[in-house]
Amino acid sequence: MIPKETVDEILETSRVDEVVGEFVNLKKRGANLLGLCPFHNEKTPSFTVSPAKGIYKCFGCGKAGGAVNFLMDHEQYSYPEALRYLANKYNIEIEEEELSADQIQEANEKESLFVVTQFAAEEFVKNLHEDEEGRAVGLSYFKERGFRPEFIEKFKLGYSKEDWSAFTDKAIEKGYNEGYLEKAGLTIIKQEEGKEKKRFDRFRARVMFPIQNISGRVIGFGGRTLKADKKTAKYLNSPESDIYHKSKVLYGLNFAKKRIVEEDNCYLVEGYTDVISLHQQQIENVVASSGTSLTVDQIKLIKRYCSRITILFDGDAAGIKASFRGIDLILEEGLNVKVVAFPEGVDPDSFASEHSAEEVKSYLEKEAVDFIAFKSRVLMKDTENDPLQRAQMIRDIVQSIALIPDPITRSVYVQECSTLLDIDEETLMIELNKIRRRKLSKSIQEREREEESSENLMLHKVDTKTKEDPEEYQEKDLIYTLIKFGGQDFKLEGEEEEDEQILNVSDYLVDEIMHDKLEFKNPLYDRVFSLFVKAREEGRQVMEQELISNEDKSISSLAIESLLEKYELSLNWEEKHKILTISEEEELPKKIHKGICSWRLKRVMDMILQKQEELRVDPDNYEEIQGIIKRLEEAKKALAGELGRIVLPR
Ligand code: ATP
Ligand code: MN
Repeated sequence: MIPKETVDEILETSRVDEVVGEFVNLKKRGANLLGLCPFHNEKTPSFTVSPAKGIYKCFGCGKAGGAVNFLMDHEQYSYPEALRYLANKYNIEIEEEELSADQIQEANEKESLFVVTQFAAEEFVKNLHEDEEGRAVGLSYFKERGFRPEFIEKFKLGYSKEDWSAFTDKAIEKGYNEGYLEKAGLTIIKQEEGKEKKRFDRFRARVMFPIQNISGRVIGFGGRTLKADKKTAKYLNSPESDIYHKSKVLYGLNFAKKRIVEEDNCYLVEGYTDVISLHQQQIENVVASSGTSLTVDQIKLIKRYCSRITILFDGDAAGIKASFRGIDLILEEGLNVKVVAFPEGVDPDSFASEHSAEEVKSYLEKEAVDFIAFKSRVLMKDTENDPLQRAQMIRDIVQSIALIPDPITRSVYVQECSTLLDIDEETLMIELNKIRRRKLSKSIQEREREEESSENLMLHKVDTKTKEDPEEYQEKDLIYTLIKFGGQDFKLEGEEEEDEQILNVSDYLVDEIMHDKLEFKNPLYDRVFSLFVKAREEGRQVMEQELISNEDKSISSLAIESLLEKYELSLNWEEKHKILTISEEEELPKKIHKGICSWRLKRVMDMILQKQEELRVDPDNYEEIQGIIKRLEEAKKALAGELGRIVLPR
């Protein structure tokens, strides 16, 4: 854990222009810097960095943020990774926060698994290059397969010896803990009643493919046997462990992530050898779900980097039908999916080994078809001329389209399906809507059931209601004002001239809102607001970078969005629009006043409704409640009048 003070120091010290400047060639342009956007292809620069504001923004593709966001987006760093990078760059020492005993235990446990796994990876590599058996069997196998030395090295390929316990013995001798060797799945321990305990190597006489996590640490292995023996499984994988969760790992992602972002496309293949062979032909945006069928977690992982997945299939029919499920899962996640099929008996690995880089590239580009074309081509084979089968096939395809969350994309696919299968669009639309309705009513039923069983019945209702609530705008306006102008002072006018006060915007707003015990209904706004409350309690101001570079991605996006609103004009056409920005600031006191007034008004109106309800259930207290209502009505009138007097441009 990096302590909060250090995080603040890092954010305060980091300069967006210096950080971005390491990756993008920037030229001075007025107060800003300009360069070619690293997030999309462009010929004329529209990527603007404002050192003064600590923000970059591309006016071409819309990507924007601060130093931390840049590192996360461009280098695919996690939040702590980005902070560590910056700390290193600016020589800020990170004194890790003390962990609790449990946390230490857990961290140590994981760290120990990493350590023994790393040791194993190094041993296997050593075997492959330095051991006689390893060279004769393992290395020559890889060479025969066409793996070139630099790729054998890059993927840290190795060899496990043909011996019952060569690896385990060596590890124990070096002082590695037996328990961790077992938990990491490297050693199998057998203890039979009345007999001596025995230790075996899990991987024996296999070429080894280490599986790495996103930051490149080895977390497990796949081992391929070199025996023709039918009884041994061709591939053996590490079992699940605290550091290796099969369903959440994609082989090759650590090498692929950067290219995946650049290409906005991720090739998905079956196994280790496919990934490596494609790398050898300069296709680097490729990952494998090796050992499992594609999971939702894996798709979500890919979704962090791009919006398109292209599945590469071997030419065997059994695998293809099984793939339909994977396609549906991808569509449901809102990603675009394409498919490249290979001829009978050919897989991406063999294809890549037998063709030039150019040929592979153009094959992948030319052969990629969308899922509709792919599904209909596969299913068409079964239908022959049977109309019932054909109807089933169409329904099958429409079912897939129905999974896509975005309505526009759905209708595009309906159009395509209509052309391809020669059925009119309306019929397809009707079928599609039927499926969506069924799905929708099912999910509504599920939600209702959930809500009923939930103790937080009220909370749920409020949560779902806020979504279309016009009140949302009021809240949004206040939060935007806080973010944009929180650090500034403004003049609060009073009845008399000497009542005039100069106040800090965020102090004033926080005090007012807390005083009225008002709450933000939108949970995101509430989270942002509590950052301001906390800062107020600590007697400091919230830094813009604290918001822009917040670990909470939705806070960060909200801050970027609102601050851009403030800076947009001055970033782009500095001189011309300065006036406009200033005028917004001149309107600030009014804006703040209005924000608070309209919120109060809303609250008063809520209270009136509440009292009226009380009156209905408790008519005995008529006099008293009616009195309160009357006073509330007066307050309402006063506030409405006040609001009417505040005239804002727009
Ligand atoms: P061959 O030389 O016979 O073609 P191979 O090593 O290329 O063998 P294939 O059977 O062609 O293996 O399988 C292709 C890919 O599928 C391999 O790269 C491998 O990573 C992956 N694979 C196959 N079976 C498994 C398995 N049980 N667990 C994990 N990955 C597997
Ligand atoms: Mn193969």
